[in-house]
Amino acid sequence: ADVRQLLLSRIRDVSDYPKPGVMFKDITPLLADPAAFTALTGALAGLCAEHGATKVVGLEARGFILAAPVAVRAGLGFIPVRKAGKLPGATLSQAYELEYGTAEVEIHAEDLGRDDRVMVIDDVLATGGTAEASLGLIRRAGAEVAGVAILMELGFLGGRARLGPALDGAPLEAL
Ligand code: 5GP
Repeated sequence: ADVRQLLLSRIRDVSDYPKPGVMFKDITPLLADPAAFTALTGALAGLCAEHGATKVVGLEARGFILAAPVAVRAGLGFIPVRKAGKLPGATLSQAYELEYGTAEVEIHAEDLGRDDRVMVIDDVLATGGTAEASLGLIRRAGAEVAGVAILMELGFLGGRARLGPALDGAPLEAL
């Protein structure tokens, strides 16, 4: 409960960003506070151990900032899921629906194998579209999903429900 309070106190609400009517959850104050950043990466690394993860996937871009130190702390490899066109090697791609239009994410297929259990890490779960597409990539790469671990879930956007089928029983942990 203390960790939860510390994390919450370091998240800044920014109204009308990136457009009018949106309340953006800004995590930069948390990243700038070593006690909060250390508590966050420690909690996420603990979830990786608890759920038997062998690899950590971070979602571009803020997911990278969290997943890389989590991978190091948990003693696991880090794999980026990137927006389309950024990875140089052979990729798997997955398109998904946004509020307006579509987006596409990619992963290096060779980074995952049949023996891997993957924890997906990001800062915020909003509609769940990005995480859902990423779970698709992990399964298509032949790996198992250990779970999705995020700092914060925006419950009113219904991401947990959208993610349900893709999770297929794996846990969604929101700190
Ligand atoms: P989704 O695909 O779940 O709708 O969107 C999630 C992605 O958008 C995440 O990668 C997350 O970083 C970003 N995102 C959406 N809303 C917010 C927000 O209020 N704050 C932050 N920090 N990221 C957000």
